[in-house]
Amino acid sequence: MRFDLDVRSVVKKFGDFTAVKGVSFKVEQGKFFSILGPSGCGKTTLLRMIAGFLEPTSGEIYIRGNLVNGLPPNKRPVNLVFQNLALFPMMNVEENIAFGLRRRKVPNNEIKKKVKDILERVGLPGFEKKAISQLSGGQKQRIAIARCLVLEPSVLLLDEPLGALDLKLREQMKVELKKLQTEVGTTFVYITHDQSEALVMSDYVAVMNAGKFEQVDTPQNLYKYPQTAFVAQFVGDNNGWEAEVVSQDKGTALVQTSEGYQFHVKTLDHLNKKNCIFFVRPEAFIIKPDNKIDDLNRLKVRVKTILFDGANSRLLTVVENSEKEIIVALPQNKQFDYIKPGDVIELGWHPENCI
Ligand code: ADP
Ligand code: MG
Repeated sequence: MRFDLDVRSVVKKFGDFTAVKGVSFKVEQGKFFSILGPSGCGKTTLLRMIAGFLEPTSGEIYIRGNLVNGLPPNKRPVNLVFQNLALFPMMNVEENIAFGLRRRKVPNNEIKKKVKDILERVGLPGFEKKAISQLSGGQKQRIAIARCLVLEPSVLLLDEPLGALDLKLREQMKVELKKLQTEVGTTFVYITHDQSEALVMSDYVAVMNAGKFEQVDTPQNLYKYPQTAFVAQFVGDNNGWEAEVVSQDKGTALVQTSEGYQFHVKTLDHLNKKNCIFFVRPEAFIIKPDNKIDDLNRLKVRVKTILFDGANSRLLTVVENSEKEIIVALPQNKQFDYIKPGDVIELGWHPENCI
């Protein structure tokens, strides 16, 4: 296995404040790797250290096996696509893309050919003479990426490049970016605070919180097997409970929530602590469970509202006689269309669907 990027115990301090607190990870060649975390957790700081705009306080960064600490940005085989794209508005598409090549003193005829090739690869053939102001948001996006890719970086770094786009275009660009990355085969390190972007596009996702990585995993594993409460809450909708451990057996425990409900939950390890947090995904609930299934956890809830997003419906419910809110995914058939706000329904779920 070949690693394009190898970050070892990187720390960044700004005075007394530590923005990045010892982060280590490796990115295999050709992978789409995302760093997902809330605003202010240190994502941009980490990326700027990889790009060479900031030096780490401690730790090492290797790109294709070479230590790059101390090298200026233009001596590192990486390129950074900025949040605001930073295209030159006075130059046309060709001049924008050619900019870095000219600085490298690439001959003119070669530049022309490279620009033509990269425009084809990003799906905008023949766009050479267009002005930046003539382009749509999505096209600007692709030109900004083309301008970096034409320099053939070992790793392309992208700092929330879809942030400025409206929702519909963002949805579209997510798919296009992933397609583009697969086609060109360049290693991408992509920063976002949007979990749906990270899950859709990435081969691996690092979830970052307060300067640290909480978990690095495939999107599927992050969703199914979150290793920390932060990851469980940050990745996808989730229903969390704080509970006390009443008793435990191999792989399961009986817990009691602060509202006094007792549930059976699956446990990954022996619970050493008296207290735990457990999570149930909205789609894990069975609505109106058959009374013959006896190992289910059961709970009565009142429907507050029905949230419909075009493809899916979710029920926002509240546990009877408490303030505890629970989000329940409605199966896509019409079986539960009769449910309306104010109804009391029973939910069931299997202990193995409690994380
Ligand atoms: P993110 O990109 O995840 O939103 P940043 O990496 O931009 O987060 O910032 C992480 C933290 O470091 C923030 O609290 C920010 O205020 C702080 N920070 C970033 N750059 C500097 C700087 N040059 N000087 C002091 N603090 C900074
Ligand atoms: Mg940022």
